Amino acid sequence: MNQEVDPTACEETACRTKVDLFRQLRGASSSSSSSSSSPSGTTTPRSELIALYQSRKDAVLQRPGQGECPPDREELGRATWALMHSVAAYYPHQPNVEDKRAARGLVSAIARLYPCSHCREDFRTEIERSPPKVESQEEFSRWVCEQHNAVNDKLGRQAFTCGDSGALRERWRFGSERCRESWRGEETAGESLGQE
Ligand SMILES: Cc1cc2nc3c(=O)[nH]c(=O)nc-3n(C[C@H](O)[C@H](O)[C@H](O)COP(=O)(O)OP(=O)(O)OC[C@H]3O[C@@H](n4cnc5c(N)ncnc54)[C@H](O)[C@@H]3O)c2cc1C
Repeated sequence: MNQEVDPTACEETACRTKVDLFRQLRGASSSSSSSSSSPSGTTTPRSELIALYQSRKDAVLQRPGQGECPPDREELGRATWALMHSVAAYYPHQPNVEDKRAARGLVSAIARLYPCSHCREDFRTEIERSPPKVESQEEFSRWVCEQHNAVNDKLGRQAFTCGDSGALRERWRFGSERCRESWRGEETAGESLGQE
């Protein structure tokens, strides 16, 4: 496997995106490895290319500063769901009029501005069918969970049990036993947010 690819390659204009990085790895791999794609037609196993890509991608993405690349659909999705579930997890139990307006506003801003065009179109359709439920923390968390499940379903992924408010709170606010272990003596997620 090629070891000479520069993990900072994303700083180069030739490697602006992870797709480019993947292509670059494929090209570099084919020129330096006998088991990779070559003019004679031999091909690097896909699993090897993906492992190489993942190791370089992480090195590039996790480096602060110039090496960072823009989020793709998956990364942006994870970050956006984290925001929405977290907002819902810390939403007031008895929201006032302004809280409710802000919660609806957040949802409608995402439906209008979310950069993945087909994601946002489907999201709009979903929220027309089921407008945001913002009367309480539990209700809003469940509604966000159901929206996320609609996308999970579309992508053939496992559904979360949205009726289980304890599971939702554990995932997005209080953490599992494993999280609490790792927080022992350290700042918890909630504390780092100035919440508890
Ligand atoms: C509004 C919106 C629409 C999107 N539409 C599309 C689309 O049309 N096509 C597409 O390819 N991608 C879409 N995405 C992105 C997609 O939903 C995923 O975020 C992305 O594919 C990354 O998936 P993942 O497996 O890493 O985990 P994610 O689905 O991002 O989930 C992150 C974590 O949330 C938890 N989780 C999962 N489901 C639930 C739930 N129902 N309730 C609470 N917690 C949960 C799990 O712990 C999971 O690890 C959309 C994202 C958003 C925010």
